[in-house]
Amino acid sequence: MRFLCVLWVLYGSSFSAAALDREAFTITKYDLTIQLEPQQQRLGARGKITLRNDSGQPQKIVALQISSSLNWRSIRVDGKAVQFVSQPYISDIDHTGALSEAIVSLPVEVKPKDSVELEIGYEGVIAQDATRLVRVGVPEEIAKHTSWDQINPGFTAVRGAGYVAWYPITTESADFSEGNSLFEVADRWKAREAASEFNAKVTMSGDSGEDAPSMICSPGRGINDPINDRMNDRMNDRTRHARPSSTECSWARLGTITPTFAMANYRDFSKPPLYLFSLAGHEAGASTYSNALDLAMKFVSEWFGPPRAPIAIADLADPHSAPFESGTLLMVSMAAEDSKLAGINVVHELVHSALPSSRPWVYEGLAHFAEALYRQEQGGREAALDLLGLHRAAFLDSEKEVAAAQKSLGQPLASTFDETYYRSKAAYVWWMLRDMVGDDALKQAIGKYRDAGDRDKDKDQKYVERLIEAAAKRDLGWFFDDWVYRDRGLPDFRVQSVHPWTTEKGVQFITVTLENLGSAGAEVPFTILFEGGEITKRIEVRAKSTATTRVEMPGTASEIRVNDGSVPESDLTNNVFQIGAEQK
Ligand SMILES: [Zn+2]
Repeated sequence: MRFLCVLWVLYGSSFSAAALDREAFTITKYDLTIQLEPQQQRLGARGKITLRNDSGQPQKIVALQISSSLNWRSIRVDGKAVQFVSQPYISDIDHTGALSEAIVSLPVEVKPKDSVELEIGYEGVIAQDATRLVRVGVPEEIAKHTSWDQINPGFTAVRGAGYVAWYPITTESADFSEGNSLFEVADRWKAREAASEFNAKVTMSGDSGEDAPSMICSPGRGINDPINDRMNDRMNDRTRHARPSSTECSWARLGTITPTFAMANYRDFSKPPLYLFSLAGHEAGASTYSNALDLAMKFVSEWFGPPRAPIAIADLADPHSAPFESGTLLMVSMAAEDSKLAGINVVHELVHSALPSSRPWVYEGLAHFAEALYRQEQGGREAALDLLGLHRAAFLDSEKEVAAAQKSLGQPLASTFDETYYRSKAAYVWWMLRDMVGDDALKQAIGKYRDAGDRDKDKDQKYVERLIEAAAKRDLGWFFDDWVYRDRGLPDFRVQSVHPWTTEKGVQFITVTLENLGSAGAEVPFTILFEGGEITKRIEVRAKSTATTRVEMPGTASEIRVNDGSVPESDLTNNVFQIGAEQK
């Protein structure tokens, strides 16, 4: 019998390698009921999923994948059990480094664009597992701070695809050790599922009542918001003591959301619209968040409008856990008291609440941009640029590859599902736009965007450009083309030449020519140092071009520094020019 199973697996593998298109189907709808048994670290799932054939060929076979620590129990179509072969499939998209794959033979072929509904059942355990990181050489102790997903009586937190496949996915194998393979597969999955509907009711078996742990899921927009319900329960029905530990994870459209649930004996410090959950002993850390709320609300309302949906910030058990964000839920350790960090974290989530968008570079880019704006308000421009600077490394390497390949291999911001782009690069793009058009014009454009219907925002990728152009009365087509619609890599500025000169009346001037060696243009600040002071000006230098300007000087110029860090650049080593040295 054992021998036969092995044969089945081998047969399944070779067969699938030859004929199987693992990404042919997109799961367009999930309707799941999830039962948790924390004492056993168990998860059991039942429900329905709808699969659409997005390939060009009719498909009779579908490969459904869940975490390798879960097992397929049943798969039915039209009420009838269908044949499937279950096999392990190595992939780093799951924390265990593998998936349980069901190769399902559908009763009839599904034509391109047609859909099929499957009734599914699966179960197993979800324990903390850092296999995929340890396998590529990360020490286990460090890997655990990143791989914190688990079902546990003390603390449960499980993130979705890309961390733990606690719901079915359909992907090619992803490999951490092969450059960007994992991120490409995970990003492709997110892009394919962006318009999918997701509903999962997660319930803990057994315990209910006053002492039952609180359960949360990423709060969505809309009436099914679990935290709203919870809040309503508490406010409207104080006499009811027992309530089941359950939560609804529901989104009409997933976008960049990674469905995530958490369960713990959280202390509730909620203060609408902030739903704040901390673990025992972290009260001081939690209070930095509630203390940050008022100032953050005032700031966000002024720039992005009032919050329109609840936000949630929840504690993590391991104080060294890497924070995680999905939609308007932030999971971050509250073990430490860091009021600066709490401030920008609250600002970030409030921006999401004020300004929903189906465009990741708008949704996340504006939230990260707002963090920098908030830092500027509290600590000056340099503090803001320091914060932005932390983002630079994230996309610098991939932009260098784009530059080396000299073609559009890159990731246009307008369509990317790569976090480093839609978070880090986008934050810079918004900052540059603000430097170019000023606060008033940008606020006006953001206000129009906020008030527009979703259809307006979604139908046209140039919508944002038009709003800012109208508010600023300035042509920004070249900028959007270089930074948003295409990925042209980064600029690289240098001073090409300087000519100090003096008029007959003794007024000193300097003529500066800046060169941009890169393929993306930008408006860049440059500072001229002279004895007793400095002057900063801005100049637009298009890709692979030069630009010249003349500056009146109160004294003899000694040095020019291009770019204060507000424009991401591929090479910052050639940005300082000594004027004296040049003339000798
Ligand atoms: Zn965010």
